[in-house]
Amino acid sequence: MNLAIRLTSLMARKLPVKPIRLAGQRPVASISFDDFPRNAWTLGGPVMARHGVRGTYYTAGGFCGRTVDGTEFYDAEDLTALAAAGHEIACHGFAHQPTPSLTTAELAADAARNGEFLKPFLGGAAPVSYAFPYGRVSPRTKRFMAPRFSSVRGVHPGVNVGRVDLAQLNTISLEARCWDEEAIEAAIQRVRQDRGWLILYTHDVQENPSPYGSTPKMLDWALGRVAAAGITMLPVREALPVALGA
Ligand SMILES: [Zn+2]
Repeated sequence: MNLAIRLTSLMARKLPVKPIRLAGQRPVASISFDDFPRNAWTLGGPVMARHGVRGTYYTAGGFCGRTVDGTEFYDAEDLTALAAAGHEIACHGFAHQPTPSLTTAELAADAARNGEFLKPFLGGAAPVSYAFPYGRVSPRTKRFMAPRFSSVRGVHPGVNVGRVDLAQLNTISLEARCWDEEAIEAAIQRVRQDRGWLILYTHDVQENPSPYGSTPKMLDWALGRVAAAGITMLPVREALPVALGA
């Protein structure tokens, strides 16, 4: 990242756009998959089913039915199947562009396009959760997304405890490139003790994952540790009201 991008991202991070204090009544956790590669559903789905949990798929419509750089992405049947199984279909932009690189008009067009694409799989409704592609944000794009979604997730590593920004929620990565069982366990314990919200994320799920993905075993381990801590796991849209004490 060049300096200008780093500064913009730091400024965005320091600018709470939708600040709120979590209720701290009980801990909650979510598992999310970005983009998403098809095996996040075909191989990740069975792991979640074994744990009796449902996840959130931050879906970029532009990837539907495509194979890009060797990655096979989900198709329309996958979206139908995972929605029927109670998983959440959430928004990740249509063209999967870093939001600061788009003008506000382009951002609006892209968000509208993804909303239209996802609608049939959401029973005609609009997606309520959003994640920034690449986690890339600016103060302008945070302000743009905040009123359009009930929660917005970035990729800044951390748990969500106490005062949080619903326009840029923190997340703990399960990606192979930064896999750290001790750090993940510490995050789980922090959320349990402080009754916060843990949002996990990854991309592909397969035996030989990309640097941005996980093995089925890694996913299984993480979901097992959350369960062992007695933390309920819910899709992001259902975890939000729990975190807010509604
Ligand atoms: Zn992405």
